Amino acid sequence: MRDLRVSITDRCNFRCLYCLPETEEAANFYRTKFDALRNPQPFALKPIRYDWKPRAELLTFEEIERVVRVATELGVRKVRVTGGEPMLRHGVEQLVGRLAAIPGVEDLAMTTNGQLFAAKAEALRAAGLKRVSFSMDSLEAANFRKLTGRDGLAEVLAGIELAQRLGFHPVKVNAVLIRDLNDHELEPLAEFARERNLSFRFIEFMPLDSSRAWQRELVVPGREILARLQARFDLRPVDQSENPAETARRWTFGDGRGEIGIIAPVSEPFCGHCNRLRLTADGKLRTCLFSLGEHDLRPLLRGGATDAELADRLIELVVHKEAGHRIGQPDFVQPARTMSCIGG
Ligand code: SAM
Ligand code: SF4
Repeated sequence: MRDLRVSITDRCNFRCLYCLPETEEAANFYRTKFDALRNPQPFALKPIRYDWKPRAELLTFEEIERVVRVATELGVRKVRVTGGEPMLRHGVEQLVGRLAAIPGVEDLAMTTNGQLFAAKAEALRAAGLKRVSFSMDSLEAANFRKLTGRDGLAEVLAGIELAQRLGFHPVKVNAVLIRDLNDHELEPLAEFARERNLSFRFIEFMPLDSSRAWQRELVVPGREILARLQARFDLRPVDQSENPAETARRWTFGDGRGEIGIIAPVSEPFCGHCNRLRLTADGKLRTCLFSLGEHDLRPLLRGGATDAELADRLIELVVHKEAGHRIGQPDFVQPARTMSCIGG
């Protein structure tokens, strides 16, 4: 295991239709889809229960730093700070500073929806953050609002530009593609990546939304994404033989500006190469995005366990990491917690 994703809050200022759908617009989108599929169940958005974890249940910065330090002593090299929306955690730049100072952390990154990035950008850079990934699923203001539940496109675009100006590298942008919602934006988003010299990632919609409204018909398969992009752009495959655990299959544009990657966990699972672990904001270790069980580290962290005992626990959990997810299998069960809680 080389890659640890650390969620630092389960809260979010967005309400993405594929993560925490809440708006009437999102409900209407799913409703039409359910009707079209002649689903006998009328669709209703499940109201989001605002049972965000109270502060006392969240790991403190000291506790997060300790888990990361012990994990790096066992071989973790890459740490990504995520959420929920990581910018909402007070003092996030101080946490980044602490993580950047851990000797084994060779690669420290963060994933953000970008709306509040500008206010923290310089402090994060100064604290030692090198890479940042934004989530931006649309370049059309109205569609952006439908997808995220908020008017934030201008701030996100400004955040991406600022990140490039401040020297974050690479600046990545993730887009989840959803059939009949933003799949018509595939080519414009790829063109944006080329023009702005960005690393763009197209991600398949996964069954991790709070309303359990995911349907396979809404997934735009990676193969289709690639065929459409190849029809439009001169794409050159990136040699990834050195790093088989990478989730994205990557291509550069013929003119050398920008890059695209396709992440297809639903249609082409890459579980066999997975080297990731996830730590939730409330201190649960997850060995897979789709794990049904979580392993609480707080009793160890708050109960006086030594670093050696914590390390033993991490090893024991990693040994039992599941062989793969079961999306598409008859026995697939969606995890109880959503992407915003698990940490994407
Ligand atoms: N709030 C931050 C953001 O949106 O970038 C960080 C957390 S978010 C959970 C991390 C990533 O998970 C985002 O890029 C988002 O697009 C992705 N994501 C969330 N729900 C998803 C789903 N159901 N399927 C695929 N990706 C999803
Ligand atoms: Fe959207 Fe990220 Fe917030 Fe989920 S956690 S609602 S993906 S911004």
